[in-house]
Amino acid sequence: MDMKQLDQQYIAGTYARFPLQIVSGCGALLKDEQGNEYIDMASGIAVNTFGACDPEWAQAVSQQANTLQHISNLYYTNPCVELAQMLCEKTGMKKVFFGNSGAEANECAIKAARLYAANKKGKEYYTIITLQNSFHGRTITTLAATGQDSFHNDFTPLTPGFVYCPANDVEALTALVNQHKCAAIMMEPVQGEGGVLPLTKEFVQAARDLCDKKDMVLIFDEVQTGNGRTGSLYAYMQFGITPDVVSTAKGLAGGLPLGATMLGEKLQDVFTPGSHGSTFGGNPVCCAGAISILSRLTDELMEDVKAKSAYIFNELASADGVKSVSGMGLMIGIETTKDATQIVNECMANGVLVIKAKTKVRLLPPLNITMEQLTQAINVLKTACKEA
Ligand code: PLP
Repeated sequence: MDMKQLDQQYIAGTYARFPLQIVSGCGALLKDEQGNEYIDMASGIAVNTFGACDPEWAQAVSQQANTLQHISNLYYTNPCVELAQMLCEKTGMKKVFFGNSGAEANECAIKAARLYAANKKGKEYYTIITLQNSFHGRTITTLAATGQDSFHNDFTPLTPGFVYCPANDVEALTALVNQHKCAAIMMEPVQGEGGVLPLTKEFVQAARDLCDKKDMVLIFDEVQTGNGRTGSLYAYMQFGITPDVVSTAKGLAGGLPLGATMLGEKLQDVFTPGSHGSTFGGNPVCCAGAISILSRLTDELMEDVKAKSAYIFNELASADGVKSVSGMGLMIGIETTKDATQIVNECMANGVLVIKAKTKVRLLPPLNITMEQLTQAINVLKTACKEA
């Protein structure tokens, strides 16, 4: 039986996979089982921050795996504490809870906000405003937070207490805040799965002001936008505000499962022993990987991310078959005249892996992709976008 048949026989049918088996890689270059090479413009959906098998990261991870792979949160471990300290020092956040995925990082953010509101204002202040077209994960509560009916339909009843505001609509946001007993406002600074759509500074500032005024919690879901992806360590840094809680995952550990929920001053003491937890959270191997990644997300690298981003925007803005380009840093969505699926398939046939976000082509290359690889990939993409 071939891989596709075995996958169909033994793996739960949640994924529509491309007909491609990737077996190895080096940086932004990936290899399939026949030895064909591909330029990676997706990073395993914004996870492989420095591409495949980055040597420094692999060394840090294997060294920790050969020292201690897990011991549980009943004991102190150095990588976990070191990473939390690094995250706090680089962001100004005060405390970190470690989980294993984006959904869990958001679950923790939601629990933290509800706990804060219950303690400060009363249990009836549980409503969380999220945005229409958002994506926050696939657990029952993060599905409820996700502002897209198509994700909800088969899984009701979801966790109650979520209402949805149109993105960038300050008036609607103000009305919802006044209408409900709210704990928090939660948003992705750039809606990723929703089509790579950045929020406006005005909207983000209005959310910050409303949260200050009503003692609500501003949660930024930086699961996809975080860890250098948008050209700053976290995307909020480019919006001129500081959230109360930042959740992140994906690129944090460069390819290992790790989520982090960073708590600012207001919520730093909200959790007490037993109020939250995770068996694998803060796993030493994952944290060692994250330390290696985070220590290299320098200002210089962020400038490089911005320069590569500008190159992509410039190349694509006036390209044949491209209607619009959106996004921030190396998180880019392209609206095309041709069907995006056709473009993704044509790119793959020509050695370039790109993915989709809704009806757009989405680019999330490793931050260390070389200019030569990027130029080659963009040329293939431009050709694929052209109408025949
Ligand atoms: N939040 C955002 C903004 C995401 O993009 C994703 C995943 O795409 C998630 C949460 C869920 O992350 P995970 O799949 O690691 O649970």
